Amino acid sequence: MKFCSECAHPVSLQIPPDDTRPRFVCSNCGTIHYQNPKMVVGSIPVWEHEGETRILLCKRAIEPRLGYWTLPAGFMENNETTEDAARRETEEEAGAKITLHGLFSMINVPHVHQVHLFYRATLLDLDYAAGIESLEVEMFTEAEIPWEDIAFPTVAYTLKAFFSDLKLVQKNDAKFALHTEDIYKPMRSN
Ligand code: ZN
Repeated sequence: MKFCSECAHPVSLQIPPDDTRPRFVCSNCGTIHYQNPKMVVGSIPVWEHEGETRILLCKRAIEPRLGYWTLPAGFMENNETTEDAARRETEEEAGAKITLHGLFSMINVPHVHQVHLFYRATLLDLDYAAGIESLEVEMFTEAEIPWEDIAFPTVAYTLKAFFSDLKLVQKNDAKFALHTEDIYKPMRSN
């Protein structure tokens, strides 16, 4: 941040009185510009057919990670809930209509100031199509997932946990759980 969004005066990084962290402070109007993590929310759109479980993935048409595959997800907007965000991002990026189920993963990514949330979801039909942020949208079984070309560690983590839970659920050994993780820096290709 270079300029105050309240008065357009240049801001400077300093620790305000009674605080412990550097903040962007405006010496003209006194505003302290707090910056906090952003929520990235998405879905795990599932299609079950003849005993096979497929997940809808989007190939990214934008940076970062252009050309890599991801679950539909994006930044939560003001005035919406996390569930609204998951449905909206799935519609925008994959043109897909879903029914949402439970929250499946919550992953802190402190070094990029983000928290990622993914909901389990069922595709309502196969009428999906790539939105402007996607090059392609495709369904994959676990064996078909392009594990080497997954865009983000949070997506790889979520997909692995999903298929691991799915096997237990199909054996009637468990229900889907909420998976939480902290990812401190980008992992290598798996
Ligand atoms: Zn100001």
